[in-house]
Amino acid sequence: MGPHLILLGPPASGKGTQGRRLAESLGLSYLSTGALLREAVENGTPAGKEAEPILERGGYVSDELMGSIIEPWLEKNREGWVLDGFPRTIAQDDFLRGWLAGHSQRIDAVISLEVPKEDLIERIERRVECPDCRWSGQKSDLAGGGRCPKCGGEAGRRMDDSLENFLSRFDEFSLHTSPVIERYASVGGLTACDATAPVDTVAEGILKTVQRIITDGQTA
Ligand SMILES: [Zn+2]
Repeated sequence: MGPHLILLGPPASGKGTQGRRLAESLGLSYLSTGALLREAVENGTPAGKEAEPILERGGYVSDELMGSIIEPWLEKNREGWVLDGFPRTIAQDDFLRGWLAGHSQRIDAVISLEVPKEDLIERIERRVECPDCRWSGQKSDLAGGGRCPKCGGEAGRRMDDSLENFLSRFDEFSLHTSPVIERYASVGGLTACDATAPVDTVAEGILKTVQRIITDGQTA
């Protein structure tokens, strides 16, 4: 069985990118709660119907609803995974630990991506997205005339990247996810990674850290 890894970090810390890369490097399943929720909405499942209005106003779904969406995913993906965006709260962490204990599984490592708030705000202000092909990157990646480097579309600032939106998500993170990080720090399963460096450097650092943890057999 592959390792079970959790990636935590504030909004705009690069969790999604790093999570996907880590899962790919190690051949693990990758869970994005955002993608899983969107899928539930598109498929019109009962959970999806409940989640839709909450997602539309940019809110977070309840811990209970999240659990009901995550559980089938955990059942299906037993060979090791990287979780991104979950557990977001202590209640979600309780759910996850309970589920793992009931299935004789355990968390192998929790990685916390650390980026100072000022740097995150700077990232938000530089971030751009292409509405045509969904490419996203930074202003400096744009081709001539502010064009998308992938398809030549007219790339612009991401709709969900307003500063207010970020600040409210950051507050949510401080209030609800920081206690999860503190919990893993106190039980000894947490590895903090400086995520201010370029994406490739951060990815390399995370991979090395995880490989060392897996080899040493440390557990959370
Ligand atoms: Zn494009």
